[in-house]
Amino acid sequence: MQMFGGRSESAFVGGWDDRAGALRSDPEALAQLAPALTLPLWRGRPLVQGEGGIAAGWLAADHPVLAHARPERLFLGLHQGVARLAADISSWEPQGLDPAAMAMFLDVAEYRHPALAAEFRFADLRATMTQMSAQDAALAATARAMFNWHRSHRFCAACGQGSAWADGGWQRQCPACKARHFPRTDPVVIMLVLSGNRALLGRSPGWPEGMYSALAGFVEPGETLEAAVRREVAEETAITVGRVRYIASQPWPWPGSLMLGFTAEAQSEAITLDAELEDARWITREEAVEVLAGQHPLMRAPRRGAIAHDLLNLWVSGHLQAHDAA
Ligand SMILES: [Zn+2]
Repeated sequence: MQMFGGRSESAFVGGWDDRAGALRSDPEALAQLAPALTLPLWRGRPLVQGEGGIAAGWLAADHPVLAHARPERLFLGLHQGVARLAADISSWEPQGLDPAAMAMFLDVAEYRHPALAAEFRFADLRATMTQMSAQDAALAATARAMFNWHRSHRFCAACGQGSAWADGGWQRQCPACKARHFPRTDPVVIMLVLSGNRALLGRSPGWPEGMYSALAGFVEPGETLEAAVRREVAEETAITVGRVRYIASQPWPWPGSLMLGFTAEAQSEAITLDAELEDARWITREEAVEVLAGQHPLMRAPRRGAIAHDLLNLWVSGHLQAHDAA
């Protein structure tokens, strides 16, 4: 994807778009296709293989690892003419599991299944997203977001009865009141606030040490995206924002968001923090170059592959200007 002449490095963007929705509820048509490939996910971590250039760990439908899986298969769509499914094997209990590591912001541990060769492992998608092909990363992110949704929507929101998997995983249906429930995507605005040669970055409590990123927040019901940008910046820093410009979007499966990236033109510069942020500060373009290069004494850049990294990179390379905000 090209953005204003700059190259996007955002993960989960592009590369795969054949969701083949008509096949979700048509098992007979699916059976006519070549044998499907299945990507197992364990507690939100996709199976990956290889070193350096990492690929998603697509398995044949009868692979023994899938014996641990829930019976339902998520139909992701078609890629290279082959149906792509995902299976949730979260009930598998690896030996020597470290619950503390799993709860961290980035779990760097890798989990190996005894029925797979050593190059296969379940790994945090944040750690592997930029090493996979765009297609594999997008498919893995979709599966992760969908399994998150199924896990947190097991009961009918209308009547409270347990609901059932339907339509290749793209619906849940209530056997009691017949309500149909569809997967959610939660819109999040993320904005690089600009003032002349400076950009505003902030950090939340609990983030990796020194990491700063663009401000972000959930869009509320009844709100335009532009209003959400202005409200979030004002709430978190008391800075007022004038013109707002949409740049690009990125699916972000933690747990099921759609990041909507903007530039925003500041009308004030004094910062008053609220409880959501631990710190916020203005940095010059020259400082941002150091941050992105890993050479800043105090600050670390947002993770590569995240849209915040892209926004910062585009600004540093001259593709986004404060006066572009419209
Ligand atoms: Zn119901």
